[in-house]
Amino acid sequence: MTTHTASSFAEPGNRRILLVEDEQTIADVVRDYLLKAGFQVDMAGDGFSALSVAASRRPDLVILDRMLPGLDGVEVCRRLRLTMSVPIIMVTALGTEDDRILGLEMGADDYVTKPFSPRELVLRVKSVLRRSVKEFAPEPPVEAAGLELDPGSRTVTHGGSHLALTVREFDLLAFLMRRPNQVFSREELIKAVWGWDFGDLSTVTVHVRRLREKIESNPTKPQLIKTVWGVGYRFDDTGGGHGKQ
Ligand code: CA
Repeated sequence: MTTHTASSFAEPGNRRILLVEDEQTIADVVRDYLLKAGFQVDMAGDGFSALSVAASRRPDLVILDRMLPGLDGVEVCRRLRLTMSVPIIMVTALGTEDDRILGLEMGADDYVTKPFSPRELVLRVKSVLRRSVKEFAPEPPVEAAGLELDPGSRTVTHGGSHLALTVREFDLLAFLMRRPNQVFSREELIKAVWGWDFGDLSTVTVHVRRLREKIESNPTKPQLIKTVWGVGYRFDDTGGGHGKQ
């Protein structure tokens, strides 16, 4: 995980975006918008250079086109996830829902669909970074059902072993753990955790599934994040077999 101090996040100029896009025209337009918004921007035009630039520049966020020469965006996402928890916004072509879901499965935090407005993309970037900055608010650690979540160090352990969660997975788990046994609809979660007023609700579904794979002893029979049919999800603080009761 990249580490930052709260003060470096407070200055927009210190936030470094890696823009991975092989279409030069789109890349130029998006870069200009990001620069205008006060970000530092690194560029990569294919999958392999995306990985090497990410490793050397340690960006605060990656905007990753799905269709790239060499290594495609989904594979780049998967490989980045092996070593970094940097937020990733995937850019997919219109109408390719499977691609988008695949991107989320591979660890992307958000996505935008082409053609997109650069202004909307910049808003997404800011929203994702705001979520990352929130970690530094002095929120106390929370402990339930064998899980220990510490917003300060942004770590989660389960039965003592460290869990590698992405930004959104962490935020989602933190949100649910702080409100044990309350049911939230996917609409409520997308608003509260993603900060979106609208959006594809399958984003929530995919993140819940990924979280379950990391925290549940049997992800097909979840004991911690329970599905309440027709309503949404709730965190069961007695679940998991590690609980107090
Ligand atoms: Ca492309």
